[in-house]
Amino acid sequence: MPEGHTLHRLARLHSEYFAGGPVRVSSPQGRFADHVVVDGRHFDHATAVGKHLFHHYEGGLAVHVHLGLYGFFDTHLVPPGEEPPAPVGQVRMRVGAAAGDGPVYYVDLRGPTRCEVIAEAEVVDVRDRLGPDPLDPDADPGRAWARITRSARPIGALLMDQKVLAGVGNVYRAEVLFRHGIDPFRAGSRVTEGEFRAIWDDLVQLMEVGVETGAIHTIRPEHDHGDVPRRGADRPRNYVYQRDGWQCRVCRDEIVLQTLEARTLFWCPTCQPERPR
Ligand SMILES: [Zn+2]
Repeated sequence: MPEGHTLHRLARLHSEYFAGGPVRVSSPQGRFADHVVVDGRHFDHATAVGKHLFHHYEGGLAVHVHLGLYGFFDTHLVPPGEEPPAPVGQVRMRVGAAAGDGPVYYVDLRGPTRCEVIAEAEVVDVRDRLGPDPLDPDADPGRAWARITRSARPIGALLMDQKVLAGVGNVYRAEVLFRHGIDPFRAGSRVTEGEFRAIWDDLVQLMEVGVETGAIHTIRPEHDHGDVPRRGADRPRNYVYQRDGWQCRVCRDEIVLQTLEARTLFWCPTCQPERPR
């Protein structure tokens, strides 16, 4: 599932491609009938919060996209005077800049769990239901801390709960807990405020790297031995996510895979010991 950095990166790119002019919006697959409401409108900008992407249009309308587990965007850059490629497969929404003198961007959205036109007031509702987003410079981490310190749920589950923190998924959750030596099964109420602040600050930095590069990089240089990661040579090297059965990069014990609240969890029981307050 895409994590928050992916949505913030898309918001940045889509603002670059489309902001400041009218766009053509269509639904080649036919499942986004509301596209006619925004087709031809002026595209103001795009924003993201957590795992939600918004295309903001003139007149107080926004297209709200949630990629879910399988959604993604394809991007095409079409030379001046040429037609965009015909949509292939199940394209829920195509957005294209109005033709000008230069090349024109098109983006094709496939497989989202949500793609809908909403009013700006509803954008505020979506934001209000989410916890603070480490990629939002105005976010208040104290809101997340207030929920964590009152909770008996494991910190590993709380970090993934979008009402507690917005944008953190399975990879950042696993990696940040490893980086801070915290047992994912420790109750939120037994995490210290200092530990939480360190986790937050680290997420801000790690996720900003994700926005810049489009990939999740969590490994410190001193632990990077240049090995090929399990999912292929083109994947970033990391500490624990999908490294179950492999040696821990720090202690050499085995990385463990467990289930926590119905999601896979990767961690090192040696480096992340139970440590009651
Ligand atoms: Zn270890």
